[in-house]
Parts: sequence; structure tokens; C-alpha cells
Amino acid sequence: MYFSKIFRRSNCDMAIDLGTVNTVIHVRDQGIVLNEPSVIALETVGGVRRVKVVGNEAKLMMGKTPGNVQAIRPLRDGVIADIDVAEQMIKHFIDKALGGASRLRRHEIVICVPSGSTMVERRALRDSATNAGAARVQLIEEPMAAAIGAGLPVTEPRGAMVVDIGGGTTEVAVLSLRGIAHSSSARVGGDRLDDAISAYVRRKHNLMIGEMTAERVKCAIGAATPPGDDAAEMIVKGRDLVKGRPAEIRLTETEVASALAEPVGQIVAAVRTALEQTAPELSADIIEEGITVTGGGALLRRIDTAISDATGLSVRIADEPLACVAKGAGAALEQRLYDGILTAA
Ligand code: ADP
Ligand code: MG
Repeated sequence: MYFSKIFRRSNCDMAIDLGTVNTVIHVRDQGIVLNEPSVIALETVGGVRRVKVVGNEAKLMMGKTPGNVQAIRPLRDGVIADIDVAEQMIKHFIDKALGGASRLRRHEIVICVPSGSTMVERRALRDSATNAGAARVQLIEEPMAAAIGAGLPVTEPRGAMVVDIGGGTTEVAVLSLRGIAHSSSARVGGDRLDDAISAYVRRKHNLMIGEMTAERVKCAIGAATPPGDDAAEMIVKGRDLVKGRPAEIRLTETEVASALAEPVGQIVAAVRTALEQTAPELSADIIEEGITVTGGGALLRRIDTAISDATGLSVRIADEPLACVAKGAGAALEQRLYDGILTAA
């Protein structure tokens, strides 16, 4: 009783969406206070490895670090590759979100976990947050958080489908009555789209481009289906593979759409497979409610059209798709309506 009162009202309570690409933190009464790349730069001095910077600053170093500095994405493939490093990154982000002074206050943390994550992975995340100073740590399934953040009616006896396209994976889930009726995860997301662009540019233009350049192309002129009349285009710089020196080319939206056709097809296939596995009563609800897309991949041009064409269902892009998971987890922590959705392990 006594404890639950303390836990209920600390204004340092936070929800953390520790994504493979971005970490987003929502703090009670404040909303989203942090949204930075899940990147950490480590520096080795005299054989000792220590954290140099995290987040935005660390991402700027990717692909450009001197020998003794390493900029890494510890969550890259959705699982924690290096738990120590991931823990350091989480700790830095939590400190940053709390702004130092409030660190002594007892606060509660909700961490989002991918539906398919193992007990070992869940425990590792819990321990990281505990070590970072949380008084209590709870978990929420990521698709549930995404659905709440997108405003779907997850507490009602009505099936709702959410498709979260992140950096490493695409998670498809059907939610109903506070629970996950179906969920599946495909290892295709933003990173694959970037790789497809790099491969295309290398093959067709003999130009080698970096990861960050590929991502910039995707965000600027990437598309899930071919464009109509006014195709966008941009200049892309890299290293010419034949001449072996810096060079630039002009790339069109039409080319990028063709380069992305395969991974986009895999994303769409993941949605179709999930629909095939959904119970009939829930399917009937989804026909009425349509599909909601969250995550950074929701921002790819015409991804809604691609999914809609393949399923015959209406598709909606959530508002602020990159923030849905953190916002939803924050709401689950704050609102009585969502009681019972958070779990201890
Ligand atoms: P995660 O949850 O795995 O961290 P996010 O939901 O934060 O992933 O989404 C990150 C992905 O979204 C990255 O691959 C990023 O390149 C991609 N992304 C961000 N903005 C856009 C955009 N405008 N168009 C296409 N992809 C985008
Ligand atoms: Mg995510």
C-alpha cells in the first residue's frame, strides 16, 4: 500500500522505448523528453574502454571514427548483442532524460520489449534499468505500447491490427481486450531498406555509399511503390568503384522504389501472413477498423498504399509514428484505463 502510493506519483516516472535505431523516453507529466539514435561511442585509452558520447553525438561519428573510438549500435538486430554496452547506453539516456538533479528521487520505469524476446533478454533489460537507478521496473509488450500510442481501442473486445516497422524488424500484432491475440515478427525493417539502396547504387552506378548516406536517400526520396509524374531526385556522393575516387550521381525516386521493392515486399508479406493467422471474429473487426502503421518505416512514402493494395484493407499511418511506442508505454503507466497491461517480467 505504502509503496504503491510512492510509486504512483513520482514525476520522474518514465517509459523507455529502446529501439534498434532510436531510443525514445516519455516522462510523466512532461511527454517525450528524449529522442535520440541508439548509438554509443566507446573510447579505448590505455587498454580501458569507456563511454565517450551517446545518442545524436555518437551517430555523427558512425563510419568516421579514429582507431581508438568505436561508434556502435548495441541493439542492432533487435537482440542485445553486448549487454554491458547496452546497459551503459541505457544509463546515459536515463540520466539525460532526468536531467541529473532528480536522480535521487524514487522513480518507476517501464521498458518496452519486443513480443518475441526471450526471458533472458527481458531480464537483461530489467537489470539494466535497475542498475541505472530505477526503484521499480515493469515491462510492456512493444506492439501493445505502439497500439495505445496510436490511439487504438486496445481495452475493448474489438480486434485492432498494428504494424510497427522499426529499424531491425517489422512487428505485426492483433490486440483485443488488453491482450495480444496474435503477434509475429519479421526480420525486415529500415536497415534492410538502407542495405537495398546501397546494393542498388553499387550495382547500377558503381558507387559505394555509406550506411548513413543510404538512410538519407531513403528518407528523402525512398518510396514503397513507383512514383506518379513528379518523381523526386537527389545527388548522392560516395566512392567510385572503378576509378577508386570520390564521385557523385543523380538518383531518382523511381530507381529507389525499384531498389526497395524486395524488402517492401517482405514487409507486406509479413502483414498478409499475420492476417491469414488471425481468428475469424478478429478478422471481421480488422476489416472495419483497418490497419494502423507505426515506427519509422511508416514514414516511407506510399507504404500505406503498398499494404492496402496487398490486403484490400484500409491502412492508416499513425500520428508521430516514431513516438507511438514511448507515448503508449507512458500512457499505460499513467492511466487507470490501462491497468493490468504492464507486467513485472
Ligand atoms: P526502432 O524502433 O527499431 O528504433 P524506429 O521506429 O525508430 O525503429 O524507426 C527507425 C527507422 O525508420 C530507421 O530505419 C529510419 O531510417 C526509418 N525512417 C525514419 N524516417 C523515415 C522516413 N522519412 N522515411 C523512411 N524511413 C524512415
Ligand atoms: Mg521501435
